[in-house]
Amino acid sequence: MLRWIYPVTCVVCGESAPLYLCDSCREKLPHVPRPLCLYCGAATFGRASEPDRCEACAPFTRPYSWARSALVLEGETRRLVHDLKYHRASYLATPLADVLYRLWQSNPRVASRQDWALVPVPIDSRRHYERGYNQAALLAKELGRMLGFPVVEPLTRLLSEEDKRSMTRLSARARQQNANKVYALSPSWPREAASLPPHLVLVDDVYTTGATARACARVLASLPGVQEVGVLTVARAM
Ligand SMILES: [Zn+2]
Ligand SMILES: [Zn+2]
Repeated sequence: MLRWIYPVTCVVCGESAPLYLCDSCREKLPHVPRPLCLYCGAATFGRASEPDRCEACAPFTRPYSWARSALVLEGETRRLVHDLKYHRASYLATPLADVLYRLWQSNPRVASRQDWALVPVPIDSRRHYERGYNQAALLAKELGRMLGFPVVEPLTRLLSEEDKRSMTRLSARARQQNANKVYALSPSWPREAASLPPHLVLVDDVYTTGATARACARVLASLPGVQEVGVLTVARAM
């Protein structure tokens, strides 16, 4: 009802836009350039060490089957993701989920299956209290509505000693070790085989080093009945 009185406008250009981002401004956001590493979704700029695989992936095991990000974390993308996460702009989950929806529909291999469930990357209780919401859960909910997929939340994020220091100051190895420690199966989640669909998509706002995605995917892949875990993020730090 309020929308009739105050029309929804594009957060970038101010023109009328039903999802807070007009087609023109969405198209101008920096998309991850191809070719990609088929495992982690990073742009390889044609310099992959092996075909379709980037050097950053080489030292790691592969608890997930694929990861894809829609946008590069710079310019307007950085501002939108930052506002969703830190400035209580929860309404931005809708246009950013729409970006993920378009990425999903552009990939026939995943889009041809209908038996996916979305799993948001959890945040710890302290951040949840401060922010009032989990931005990944908002994205998953919006994307689930657009794709007609259920959202399940089997994961929890604990607090560790390392969290008290800035994660950005930790080395890649330390980040991975911390991530492996803090992401776990939620105590309230039933462990029965039938409780999770076989194909899961982990949803998050940003893919940085992949430590979070690997840690969460490892927990999900260990659950009975799970056959495939994919990772979908709005933006990628490059
Ligand atoms: Zn616009
Ligand atoms: Zn890679």
